[in-house]
Amino acid sequence: MARIVSDWRIDFMRAHPRLFDLMTDEPERSFGYPLCDAGWHDALERLCARIEDALRDGDTFEFVRIKQKFGLLRVDWDAELSDETRLRIGEAINLAVARSACSCEICGAEGRLYSHRGWLATRCAEHAAGDPAPVRPGFENVHFLRRTPGTANMYYARYDRATDTLTEVSPRSPHGEE
Ligand SMILES: [Zn+2]
Repeated sequence: MARIVSDWRIDFMRAHPRLFDLMTDEPERSFGYPLCDAGWHDALERLCARIEDALRDGDTFEFVRIKQKFGLLRVDWDAELSDETRLRIGEAINLAVARSACSCEICGAEGRLYSHRGWLATRCAEHAAGDPAPVRPGFENVHFLRRTPGTANMYYARYDRATDTLTEVSPRSPHGEE
């Protein structure tokens, strides 16, 4: 008898048919099947909503890989996009990665990076193992980000979890008091 297992990842992919090429028989083997825990489902939903909002007629987009790497969300994708859509999707992915960096991968509560026997993971205090990974003073939630996918145009930005926004900052003065 077939075992019926509920999987948020498959429901999530089915909810975004324009972004995933789902294999009908084995959806868990499809490209983009999230290889991360449920705490990041919220960050992924926000990401998909932003991408769907950015896509125009003629644009195509498909997730190739969604996974946890070094404690952060990592997203690979394949697309044919206008320059404007590419810029907006780059912003959406930067926001999702920044959100993963301060959200527990297990439960979704506010968290931070921990290091445990050489493994990095973003966790809340309850789900943490090991020690908090050191952060340069003043650089909490500051990220070095690519402005446009496929270019070398980088910038520093501070992520605000409450408003789900990134604000560009100076690397010399990340609090803006310069
Ligand atoms: Zn947690």
